[in-house]
Amino acid sequence: MKRSRRVKILATLGPASNTLEMIRKLHEAGADVFRINMSHASHDLMRETVKNIRKVEEDVGASIGILADIQGPKHRLGTFEKGELDVKPGDQITLDSDPTPGNSERVHLPHPDILDAMQIGHRLLVNDGKVNLKVVETGSGWAKVEVVSGTWLADKKGVNLPDSELRSGALTEKDHKDLAAVLKEDIDWVALSFIQRPEDMAEARKICQGKVGLMAKIEKPQAVERLDDIIEMSDAIMVARGDLGVEMPLEMVPSIQKKMIRKCRKAGRPVVVATQMLESMITSPVPTRAEVSDVANAVYEGADAIMLSAESAAGDYPFEAVSTMNSIAESIENDKGYAATIEAQRPEPEPTGADAISFGAAEIASTLDLAAIVCFTASGSTGLRAARTRPSKPILTLSPVPETARRLCLTWGTFSVTTPDPTDLDDMVDKACRVAFREGVARPGDRIIISAGVPLRTPGSTNMLRIAYIGSDGQGSVH
Ligand code: PEP
Repeated sequence: MKRSRRVKILATLGPASNTLEMIRKLHEAGADVFRINMSHASHDLMRETVKNIRKVEEDVGASIGILADIQGPKHRLGTFEKGELDVKPGDQITLDSDPTPGNSERVHLPHPDILDAMQIGHRLLVNDGKVNLKVVETGSGWAKVEVVSGTWLADKKGVNLPDSELRSGALTEKDHKDLAAVLKEDIDWVALSFIQRPEDMAEARKICQGKVGLMAKIEKPQAVERLDDIIEMSDAIMVARGDLGVEMPLEMVPSIQKKMIRKCRKAGRPVVVATQMLESMITSPVPTRAEVSDVANAVYEGADAIMLSAESAAGDYPFEAVSTMNSIAESIENDKGYAATIEAQRPEPEPTGADAISFGAAEIASTLDLAAIVCFTASGSTGLRAARTRPSKPILTLSPVPETARRLCLTWGTFSVTTPDPTDLDDMVDKACRVAFREGVARPGDRIIISAGVPLRTPGSTNMLRIAYIGSDGQGSVH
């Protein structure tokens, strides 16, 4: 199923949507990649959901990407004797390692690494920042905090620590188990939460051994500070605005989003904008004007993908949320100002043959008004290079590796098809023309431009450009 939209839609599945029938509907409505949130999904549910997605993929005959989102070190308070505690600014309470229920004097913080990392002046933001605590005294295995703002603490509320650098890596015991289960399934992407440093990505890379693409969720100030190195160590990036907006001042999130999109595009890494894009659609069939603007803004900025969380996973209107996102994206991309905005943000080509060829293909396709850029790509690297240029013409990526075609579903402007490697250059031209014709990307009489790395299957070796002509029966010839 070829879509004309260039930005991709990533829809989270959950109780409102993880049935075969709903996955089919959401794909039809515009979802290109599905996200399984391992904070909520059991291993059995994850496997069942993957099976359902792959069934839809087989039925529609188009690649669908699957992203498993690993929970990471989400920190929580222990429990209180009464299940909750009213507090007011100025109150002091000790956080310690005693697991018994807490009271107005003390409460358990079941994370020894946090108790070790906290220093006087560090902030703890509880319950998505509704309560702001500041460390006023520390000791071995405890820290005394003062309430700066907020009025209520309760059992197991989440805790964010924007100022404390934790020594522990990004993978907890649960994450290791989840990752082991995910790696046995037909899953294309794994997202890692709360990473702080490039080493966190390196740790996951060792475990994953190239079986999946690795996405870094940027939601901590420590990760924002090391963005360049983290991008270098990742296959994709998520602007995880939910926790980012707790850990950093909310008003900084839009500029961080812009910076991240720009840097990822320059580095040729797909970037996803996530969280609260159509939040009100959890309970309403129509979005707010501000939400429409937020989605539109991410599209104008050239994000590779835009994401739905609870809107498609647990809301009352998952189908409407996906189709609304689809309509907004289509409308923005049809705006005359869109192409100019995307063009103005185009990064300089890197001085490599692969990049020069990709930029050349985009230029030639535009100058000659060709129907499409067709990339032969085994690893996906030629496809990613082509997308980095954000060409005005569609990119059709042909790969003999189904996993590559699925992984590319997250990448701006690409339409991915799995097809065996061509046997020689004539076969390459013919294949490119036939698939472009069959998938409705080009019609008889159109011309396409083909880029590839020859010999095939050598990542990063893009070194060939051909212009080809689609004959009356869809066959190709070199023009
Ligand atoms: C986020 O914080 O924006 C995010 C996507 O993470 P999660 O929803 O997994 O907490």
